[in-house]
Amino acid sequence: MTFHDVQLLSADADELKTVLADAGFPAFRAAQLFNWVHAKGILNADRMTNLPEPLRQALKESRVLEPVRVGEILTSTDGTRKIEILLRDGRTVETVLIPDGEKLTQCISSQVGCSVGCEFCRSGKFGYVRNLTADEIIGQVLMARDAYYPGEQLTNVVFMGIGEPLHNYDNVVRVWRILCDAAGLNLSSRKVTISTAGIISGIEKLGRDLNGKAALAISLHAADEATRQRLVTGMKASLADIIAALRRYPLPKRRRFTIEYVLVKDVNDSDDDARKLVRLLNPIPVKVNLLPLNPHDLSAMAPPSDERVEAFQQILVSKGISVFMRKRRGDDINAACGQLLGQKDEK
Ligand code: SF4
Repeated sequence: MTFHDVQLLSADADELKTVLADAGFPAFRAAQLFNWVHAKGILNADRMTNLPEPLRQALKESRVLEPVRVGEILTSTDGTRKIEILLRDGRTVETVLIPDGEKLTQCISSQVGCSVGCEFCRSGKFGYVRNLTADEIIGQVLMARDAYYPGEQLTNVVFMGIGEPLHNYDNVVRVWRILCDAAGLNLSSRKVTISTAGIISGIEKLGRDLNGKAALAISLHAADEATRQRLVTGMKASLADIIAALRRYPLPKRRRFTIEYVLVKDVNDSDDDARKLVRLLNPIPVKVNLLPLNPHDLSAMAPPSDERVEAFQQILVSKGISVFMRKRRGDDINAACGQLLGQKDEK
């Protein structure tokens, strides 16, 4: 009786039945196991008291409940925690817990490295290495519980860590479903956000597979093609094609797309850029997250002045666009957007 090579943490309750049956355990144990892992957040088989000893033993021996381990945890002065996630092949990624009053948002990684190569991003500087498995992705959420403060409860998950989520489509969608499963963590579908730099085929597939239910964020960062090519070097789709794909997306009523726009000094932060952005976004319902660039050692780019950020924001607001200024969280521990590395920082 063994579970070697089984992706147990990302299996849904029906798949678990098959996995357990193949290992000689009755199907009704699947719901119990799913409840321990996803509703109670317990990964220690010894604590799964209603499971029989042989099943607990098989879970322990095959190590299926620990596809990843927690490494170093750095805590920012603002309470943000960056958690190093150790993978079995010796590589690492990072996940970030961001508290906001009662809410706790977790930013998770979907790949080791990234091929998109955003000019301002540390994560993509070493290129793409591999996709994370679905168990490695959900393992970040389950293992990070040990770093919660008393009383904290996870309310939001964003696929905005290392990697382009839609380049790892199947595993990301699998994890999205598990996170929203009513028998498990039961997160609201509008609070589990899949972010993409603009993979058209992935956006279309998401629309079909999840019927538009996934909250979708687009990392645009530019309002004209030349600037976009300069900032998001590895993405072929034009801005016009991305907007057209969003218009086709079956967005539920009263929902909006989130547009991520990193403001970079003298690159995409002028009044003219703001006006172009207004025109570009005109056909779709959006809220815009503005984020002044988080400077880091691997890029010469800089954030605009506070006055420039304010002026840019005002142009959008004056045209009726909802704008959220993303606070810089955790930049003293390199945990802010675009600062995750997934390698030891001395590299
Ligand atoms: S910002 Fe995201 S998509 Fe761009 S290089 Fe970094 S990880 Fe990849």
